Amino acid sequence: MKSDQWRRFLRVAASSNYQFYSKEMNSRALERLAMESKLRRAIERNEFELHYQPKLDLRSDTVTGVEALIRWRHPELGLIPPMEFTPIAEESGLIVLIGEWVLQEAVRQIRKWKHEGLPELHVAVNIAGPHFQQPGFTEFVYRTLEGADVSPSLLELEVTESMLMDDRTTTFATMSTLKTMGLRLSIDDFGTGYSSLAYLKRFPVHALKVDRSFVKDMPGAEDDSAITSAIIAMAHSLRLEVVAEGVETTEQLNYLNMRHCDYAQGYLISRPVPAADLSQFVRDRLAAKVCAT
Ligand code: C2E
Ligand code: MG
Ligand code: MG
Repeated sequence: MKSDQWRRFLRVAASSNYQFYSKEMNSRALERLAMESKLRRAIERNEFELHYQPKLDLRSDTVTGVEALIRWRHPELGLIPPMEFTPIAEESGLIVLIGEWVLQEAVRQIRKWKHEGLPELHVAVNIAGPHFQQPGFTEFVYRTLEGADVSPSLLELEVTESMLMDDRTTTFATMSTLKTMGLRLSIDDFGTGYSSLAYLKRFPVHALKVDRSFVKDMPGAEDDSAITSAIIAMAHSLRLEVVAEGVETTEQLNYLNMRHCDYAQGYLISRPVPAADLSQFVRDRLAAKVCAT
């Protein structure tokens, strides 16, 4: 091509969608690569921490469990929430290393709370699909609990509906082994995925966590309230417990109580907080209860 033809070609290419798309693709791929290497460094430098959000047992009005939620304490950017790095960690496979750290740290914390004399708390840990499907996952969980001398009954694993539907034979076998070991299993964000009710009955699950999107506009939004009530009724008839996520108002809490929901979790009770603040929160609630009686 002659030079003026080249120039015309480049001008057209630059203004075309193709050029725009490939530029976007390039910068996204580069961003992902950069994020991946930052994550690797974060793992090496131990920059992650767990925060804990209490779960309120609605029958006894006591905190009997917590959910462990990961945060990345970046040296310059501060605290980074999980949704900003777990998707890339999953794509790159780094989620297995991160998930192993989360499990070890949660189990270490259970032991620490026990030594501090805090009332027994169940700790729920979110498990990503690629980690759950990893060969040797159940052995890792077993070794971690045994190494810390922690009862498996104090550890709960939260999986998602889509994980139930992926590679069902392996998932079923893994879940059965975990149940035999004495762990509890719950389905997170329930109602947003596509799990078959037949599988729900077959899989060894202990609890369903009603997704925050249904709880958010309750009790005003009739459809959301009806869905939440239906999930609670269905879960109970399958002998499963129900946790409502994202409870922010007393109206929501009253509605859930009226529908005999088992547990509530949300900002109304407490935001996720560092381990030390969580134990203080539990002690303060206990003291307030003792004073009230
Ligand atoms: P999730 O497991 O459904 O956790 C609940 C999320 O809702 C948490 O966000 C929590 O801070 C937030 N939340 C709790 N109560 C309220 C409320 O009343 N109002 C509102 N607006 N939000 C509330 P977070 O900590 O940013 O975590 C987001 C998601 O990241 C989690 O959703 C979970 O899917 C994932 N995640 C968190 N920690 C881990 C982890 O250690 N491993 C893996 N694989 N995923 C994790
Ligand atoms: Mg969860
Ligand atoms: Mg959830």
